[in-house]
Amino acid sequence: MSSIDKFRRFELDEGAGVSVSFEFFPPKSEKMEASLWAAVQRLEPLSPSFVSVTYGAGGSTRERTHRTVERLIKETGLAPAAHLTCVGASREEVDAVVRDYHELGVRHIVALRGDPLEGLGAIYNPHPQGYAYGSDLVAGIRRVSEDFEVSVSAYPERHPESPDWASEIDNLKRKVDAGATRAITQYFFDNNLFETFLEKVRAAGISIPVVPGILPIVNFETTMVFSAKCGTSIPHWLARRFAGLDQDAETRKLVASAVACEQVLDLVDRGITDFHFYTMNRADLTFAICHMLGLRPAPLEQQAA
Ligand code: FAD
Repeated sequence: MSSIDKFRRFELDEGAGVSVSFEFFPPKSEKMEASLWAAVQRLEPLSPSFVSVTYGAGGSTRERTHRTVERLIKETGLAPAAHLTCVGASREEVDAVVRDYHELGVRHIVALRGDPLEGLGAIYNPHPQGYAYGSDLVAGIRRVSEDFEVSVSAYPERHPESPDWASEIDNLKRKVDAGATRAITQYFFDNNLFETFLEKVRAAGISIPVVPGILPIVNFETTMVFSAKCGTSIPHWLARRFAGLDQDAETRKLVASAVACEQVLDLVDRGITDFHFYTMNRADLTFAICHMLGLRPAPLEQQAA
């Protein structure tokens, strides 16, 4: 099917059956705070199934993550999911954070091992009294309350520390057996890799939803650096599309939107209906992609309901 056919088909389908979620990070400054809330306001009318707020490396944003989630609960009709990691805290401290979230009304946690405080690529040492891995954290959350949805990570190109595919899939299975209800993937650009990964996951008897994480590229240089660390491959065709645009922000943005639209429409053709967007706290690209998926802002009275 050509791209033009896909676009036409989406005009007819009007987003039927497509479900989206958005990821934000807690802002560091007043200026960043203002742009986060502008993005939240712009994206809320698209009725995401949830919005998630990340937890900085080594737990460095604990208070800021909490504040952002609290504000989402108090000032919007959105369902927030709080990211939580095992790094730099004892089991008691982590359990206390989980209880605080429950008291606040949060019913969804994205449970992660996390990266070391020194950042991605540094050696990971579990806290001596802490949860060691994502699966231990999921089990810990379940012990505090059965009342949570628990999402976990998944890696279509393998986690950089996984020695082989068997360990990768076993790890995901451990997280599901511990009580995870959804997996959200690391971002990727090659849909064939995602499809092959999904086949492996299903062949292992894992049946929870595996939601592709989509990264609209705000800055190609930064994306290349981060991808090398987190194990996402950059296809040759993608690098070619951004080549020569270093000084041309406007065209870069148009290209980024086209690239991500192509990716999600191709995934829809492969039967995928749920998407998690790494928004980088910006609404523009994510909003445009959702629009192409057929999503439209809900009328005000529905948003309030
Ligand atoms: P795990 O699932 O625990 O796995 C990590 C590695 O350990 C894997 O290689 C696994 O095979 C191995 N492993 C697992 N169990 C064992 C065991 N028992 N023995 C030996 N090896 C084992 N990071 C943040 O700091 N904050 C965030 O908010 C955040 N959000 C994220 C959201 C998503 C959707 C994704 C995909 C990643 C996110 N990350 C975040 C990054 C994540 O913390 C890192 O990728 C981290 O390196 C691994 O975390 P994990 O939960 O995937 O780890």
